[in-house]
Amino acid sequence: MRMTDNKPSMQASTDIVLANPRGFCAGVDRAIIIVEQALEKFGAPIYVRNEVVHNKFVVDGLRAKGAVFVKHLDEIPTGSTVIFSAHGVSKAVRAEAEARGLIAFDATCPLVTKVHIEVAKMRLAGMEIVMIGHKGHPEVEGTMGQVEGADDEDATAESTGMYLVETPADVAQLNVKNPAKLAFVTQTTLSMDDAATVIEALKAKYPNIHAPKSEDICYATQNRQDAVKLMAKDCDLVIIIGSPNSSNSNRLREVAEKQGVEAYMVDNASYLQAAWLLGKKKIGVSAGASAPEVLVKEVISQLQRMGANDVQELQGVIESVVFQLPKNLSAAPSKKA
Ligand code: SF4
Repeated sequence: MRMTDNKPSMQASTDIVLANPRGFCAGVDRAIIIVEQALEKFGAPIYVRNEVVHNKFVVDGLRAKGAVFVKHLDEIPTGSTVIFSAHGVSKAVRAEAEARGLIAFDATCPLVTKVHIEVAKMRLAGMEIVMIGHKGHPEVEGTMGQVEGADDEDATAESTGMYLVETPADVAQLNVKNPAKLAFVTQTTLSMDDAATVIEALKAKYPNIHAPKSEDICYATQNRQDAVKLMAKDCDLVIIIGSPNSSNSNRLREVAEKQGVEAYMVDNASYLQAAWLLGKKKIGVSAGASAPEVLVKEVISQLQRMGANDVQELQGVIESVVFQLPKNLSAAPSKKA
């Protein structure tokens, strides 16, 4: 339901606190630049498999510039340009793109690619792998699809050597073939606290399980969750800006809720509801890694129209991560007249 009632409805002095860091991460920034550069170099249409990042505002903006978002590669005419989303794709999708004669540019976040490489290496070494992630999320599909046989029609966890778990209850049900050669990886955008409980259950059941060298949950997810945790302590309402299908935005809302604070996720300012704000003194605002700052500004303006006063921005970790663009895109000559 969209909010249209702007009448002041809060306490006489309601402040806004802004989490830091918030919004775009380096992987999202890079993915958007890749689509924009492809449009600039080759002209529209540029096909993008899945939403390049999970944010409606970003996707609508790119669509307006000539990007065409598709679910399946067979929707794309042969010889066209396709971009794989920041969430990554399976090996089967890459092979299909090649077989269909598509010119592919890869916007997979390098931190997702890092997990893909780990998974492929470990399978080659004969290890079985448990992935901690959300069933059906494109990143999970892409990572699970890095192993031999993943695209077979009758593929099973036993046949591919990759098992997906989401909760400690899933771990209790798990039956691997060889616990002595077992490893785990995680989706990059999980709740750190939830992932920790699943990892604990895995380690209790399989004491020799091999952990990733460095954390798979990415720096941006960690920093944004830490920032919301810190902010939520002093707030009585938290608003997270993010689209409903954004995993890391959903996790931010849950992090705030776990601090005992009422928390909502909104795609943009028009979704704010007056009823949420009644009697609130301090409203915390943050944004998922795929939500642009312009939406944060609009939410703040709307809250102020509704009666909020000062905005205080919290201090936070300074992020300086920048990812290079794919070499084949940077090197590609422009085809535009
Ligand atoms: S949230 Fe993390 S893994 Fe996902 S695109 Fe951003 S930096 Fe990469």
